Amino acid sequence: MSEAKNYKEALQHSIFDTISKASLNLNLESYVIGGFVRDHILQRGTAKDIDIVTIGSGIKLAQEVSKLLPGTPKIQVFKTYGTAMLKAEDIEVEFVGARKESYSEHSRNPVVEDGTLIDDQNRRDFTINALALGLSKKSFGNLLDPFEGIEDLKSKIIRTPLSPDVTYSDDPLRMMRAVRFASQLGFKIEKESLNAITRNRDRIKIITKERIVDELHKILLSEQPSIGFKLLEKTGLLDHMLPELTALKGIDEIEGQRHKDNFYHTLEVVDNISENTDDLWLRWAALLHDIGKAPTKKFSKKVGWTFHGHEFVGSKMVFKLFKRLKMPLNEKMKFVQKMVLMSSRPIVISTDVTDSAVRRLIFDAGEYIEELMTLCEADITTKNPKRFKKYHNNFKVVRQKMVEVEERDHVRNFQPPVTGEEIMETFNIKPSREIGIIKEAIKEAILEGEIPNEHEAAFQFMIEKGKELGLMIKSS
Ligand code: ATP
Repeated sequence: MSEAKNYKEALQHSIFDTISKASLNLNLESYVIGGFVRDHILQRGTAKDIDIVTIGSGIKLAQEVSKLLPGTPKIQVFKTYGTAMLKAEDIEVEFVGARKESYSEHSRNPVVEDGTLIDDQNRRDFTINALALGLSKKSFGNLLDPFEGIEDLKSKIIRTPLSPDVTYSDDPLRMMRAVRFASQLGFKIEKESLNAITRNRDRIKIITKERIVDELHKILLSEQPSIGFKLLEKTGLLDHMLPELTALKGIDEIEGQRHKDNFYHTLEVVDNISENTDDLWLRWAALLHDIGKAPTKKFSKKVGWTFHGHEFVGSKMVFKLFKRLKMPLNEKMKFVQKMVLMSSRPIVISTDVTDSAVRRLIFDAGEYIEELMTLCEADITTKNPKRFKKYHNNFKVVRQKMVEVEERDHVRNFQPPVTGEEIMETFNIKPSREIGIIKEAIKEAILEGEIPNEHEAAFQFMIEKGKELGLMIKSS
């Protein structure tokens, strides 16, 4: 065990004094444990989630703490887990009695019995998450670090307190957590642990989709998500949750023609975009933007490798993937689909930037044009510096053109300059398909640049179009 260090300065929040007093009143030993201690030592800012473990009843301790606090805040009790939660000001505190856990093969819910602090530290997932600070008067701030978690924090290592095979097999969610912490903190998973994850990867099946997705979100939101995804791939976990991505792996060669490895390309795109956005769903779009490439891949003697229609196929796959992972089938999913569907559009027009192509791009992307451009810029992963510069410059030209066109034509949040009512009124007709035809023709004429996006011009165009359809103008 490492020497007793003191981290009193971590416990400046008044809640710790209150917990200390409450523990004294009940004659209990209490500790702050887990993420709060880890993040303090890593100087990752002050965590708002505090986990307290006490040698006795966590629920009773929470009740006593609540009594000592102004306004006696309500506690939420989770009887099945023997835990209680209390929200005070800006923080959330969870109380639990120290416990010993034993697992059966088919569930990640262990049989629980009362235990000592060391039993409780043993049941923690990683040495860096098992660090505890004393809260009693005489040991306030003293570090209890039975597994040399501090050393692992310093050397940036993810390691389990017990045998990794036992730890991961008992609760396979820990495999995802290991990868997530590696990605979030930029740590390495210790070799034995990594091997154990690979051996136990099939056990991930007993984990609910919601929890898996929760961890995937955290990996995606880390500074360099590729760290996490490479680990998921390496251990074989990724195949269980996102086989669409592993299908992108590999480089084929026919007659000396090769295509790029779309899996590693995708990860580069995700890392690139993460430098420019914290938007989880835009990061998802980057992760999935090429998934249609596996099922559409073809080789032709004339043009080499092609992925025709991969954007369309990919956007359809997004729905299935979200459904399978029980992710929300809502606006967020539609956004990801739209980004995947449109992911090549700015590239296609960037070599020949016409007004009408840019107008159509802005029209189709609507409110998400900025996100789409961010995705396309992140998609530039060429290692050739000349090309890198050229592609970025092409997009600069597109962006410049976008500003000009939008200033003039306002197609971003396109509102038809002539309404259906106006059409009905002018030609004295009831709702009918002619109205749709005229409105579509006006929109097309504006996007093609045949008429400006103005009422007067659109009205004249409507009259012409109506005549073509055999409609008569209402005599006034
Ligand atoms: P974060 O808040 O970033 O998710 P955290 O470590 O605080 O990090 P929590 O899920 O809040 O994560 O868990 C709090 C503590 O509980 C952890 O630090 C760890 O000690 C323990 N813990 C959480 N989940 C597990 C698990 N599946 N197996 C073992 N111990 C766990």
